[in-house]
Amino acid sequence: MNVHEYQAKALLGEFGVPVPEGLLATTPAEAEQAARTLGTPVVVVKAQIHAGGRGKAGGVKLAKSPAEAQQAASEILGMTLHTPQTGPEGKCVRKVYVEAGSSIADELYLAILFDRAVERFAIVASTEGGMEIEEVAATNPEKIHTVHVEPNVGLRDHQSRALGYDLGLPTEQVDKFIPFIRGLFDLYLAKDCSQVEINPLVVTEDGRLIALDGKINFDDNALYRHPEIAELRDPDEEDPRERAANEIDLAYVGLDGNIGCMVNGAGLAMATLDMIHYCGGSPANFLDAGGGADKEKVKEAFKLILRDENVRAILVNIFGGIVRCDLIAQGVTAAAKELKLSVPLVVRLQGTMASEGRAILADSGLDITAAETLQQAGELAVAAAKGGMA
Ligand code: GDP
Ligand code: MN
Repeated sequence: MNVHEYQAKALLGEFGVPVPEGLLATTPAEAEQAARTLGTPVVVVKAQIHAGGRGKAGGVKLAKSPAEAQQAASEILGMTLHTPQTGPEGKCVRKVYVEAGSSIADELYLAILFDRAVERFAIVASTEGGMEIEEVAATNPEKIHTVHVEPNVGLRDHQSRALGYDLGLPTEQVDKFIPFIRGLFDLYLAKDCSQVEINPLVVTEDGRLIALDGKINFDDNALYRHPEIAELRDPDEEDPRERAANEIDLAYVGLDGNIGCMVNGAGLAMATLDMIHYCGGSPANFLDAGGGADKEKVKEAFKLILRDENVRAILVNIFGGIVRCDLIAQGVTAAAKELKLSVPLVVRLQGTMASEGRAILADSGLDITAAETLQQAGELAVAAAKGGMA
């Protein structure tokens, strides 16, 4: 799960990481009032969306008076920002964060993530703050410094100190860098983050270190341990298809193809997506319907798949391990009848009571194409989506 910059900064502050003072605003008048309350000669008005690259896209503006802050907010609020991270449709700005301006001497980069290849945390730092780290990695890889932290040992100050000197920081700033990383690392562990990124971490003219931007991703599977983090979810920022799936407890990921998929088991679902590609098609979604797929669940899954107007065919691929294929077949036919399904349906049932299941499909009087093998299912679904089915 992602959160907004203002939420990330509140968390950073809780863990002792220095952040600028700021206030949230949803109208230009609130932004003006926020600038007045902050009372600094310069404030920064920042679009709050779940994507970086806002600065270059016009979503970050400096204001030298409350009136300018109001003006900046009126320009940013309601605009659709297009950045390399928003996707082609962009993201609509509904909130701005008004922050005390900082005088910047230097912009650095700092992030913590988990490096699965070495089974350790990675603390990544660079002198090239403000730029996208992928770009630095491509053009100046020697400017990226990494230390690994063994989970059983934990972070040691000497590691942070070495990283500070790698960045060329003078000793007085290295002394501030060490507790900065400590706070970030404590936050990372305490809240089950998957990634925290401070870009830029600035050195101010008067020698302080401040997190000027903050991006935090949380491990969804650990959210049950952190209701206070789960509460920060912003439904406006989520794919509407995925939001609907979340509400009915289905594991769904929206994709950009035209074959809707309903599969049980994540592994089989992934294999199904691969097979569709292999057969020359393109899936509209990943959907793991889980173990027990009764009529209601199948109906909800169909409805969800059909919310996506690109869908031209649906492929149901169920392996009856614990579930029985005849029950699945009853669920599929009942749901298809109730929804008056109008897109072609290809169904592959394998496993427990598969032949009984297929008989139910054949006797249903519905236009359902049965497939036996995974490849056949892929080929039939691709043909159906192209409108080439017999
Ligand atoms: P992003 O573009 O979405 O990553 O947004 P950032 O929060 O990183 O802001 C983009 C850029 O705006 C930063 O790299 C800074 O150069 C600039 N910026 C942000 N806040 C301030 C500030 O308080 N003072 C000054 N002078 N520049 C700022
Ligand atoms: Mn940034």
